Amino acid sequence: MKELLERLVEKHQFKTREGKCADYIPLLAEQDPSQLGITVVTRNRGIYKAGRFPERFTMQSISKVIALILAIMDCGERKVFSMVGMEPTGDPFNSIYKMEIFQTQKPLNPMINAGALVVTSLIKGQTVEEKVGRMIHLIEEMTGNINIKVNEDVFRSEYETSHRNRALAHFLKELHLIDRVEETLEAYLRQCAIQITCEDLAKIGLCLAQYGKTFDNRMVVPACVSRLAKTFMVTCGMYNASGEFAIKVGIPAKSGVSGGIMASVPMRMGIGVFGPALDQKGNSIAGTALLEDLSRQLDLSIF
Ligand code: GLU
Repeated sequence: MKELLERLVEKHQFKTREGKCADYIPLLAEQDPSQLGITVVTRNRGIYKAGRFPERFTMQSISKVIALILAIMDCGERKVFSMVGMEPTGDPFNSIYKMEIFQTQKPLNPMINAGALVVTSLIKGQTVEEKVGRMIHLIEEMTGNINIKVNEDVFRSEYETSHRNRALAHFLKELHLIDRVEETLEAYLRQCAIQITCEDLAKIGLCLAQYGKTFDNRMVVPACVSRLAKTFMVTCGMYNASGEFAIKVGIPAKSGVSGGIMASVPMRMGIGVFGPALDQKGNSIAGTALLEDLSRQLDLSIF
């Protein structure tokens, strides 16, 4: 496995030159766009790494999966989906457009920013610290890594420039879908700034792949919630490129604008990818190519 991963990283390295780092969050623009790496954690606890990646990077949108799992564990499916829908949008992640034009009265799904803000507001906790602390705790449970923290600099960098997310939050307040605008925004941006390693991503992927059971056999997420999370990863995990990704790669996956991708191959493996050079839709350009090739080589598509 290690040789295969090394070969694929080398093969797709050139692709990093075709993308660029997210720059709307000022600190993310400082990442090195030429980095590309992958970690695979298999069912029998094999851990394989290849490529070049920083020890830690921020989760960004990948945290939306964690928030969704926790909100459902806290409030139940019925409550969560009375306030956020289940349909992919085909629009960019931070779009406000469909909610306004079609008056759906609730965000279309929990993976776009509007839906994620609602989901975060549903997580139990009296304070921002408590809500974010509970998300961190769930990540620690899923990964076995007890060193999960928020990157305060990335959080600040986004908080100070988050005009569109703030606008979305106000719009959601008007629709009575969230209560406290600034607190919800802060909790959401802090969850996006949670730092993880590529190995953590792979272990989260494996936990979902094993229906809530961790790499070391602890049951930490109910099976039905794991299934639901993976389904959203298929339909909306790769922004408005989810359809093409399902066809070409065929693995439930969630990407983030820092360049991470968390992928989950049912009952087989979890995969963490890092490559901060993004394509137009916000997905790691070389990371996606790497996953497509890996899926073909190992026949990983679930379809
Ligand atoms: N913090 C980012 C935002 O809200 C996350 C977006 C992403 O990774 O897609 O814009």
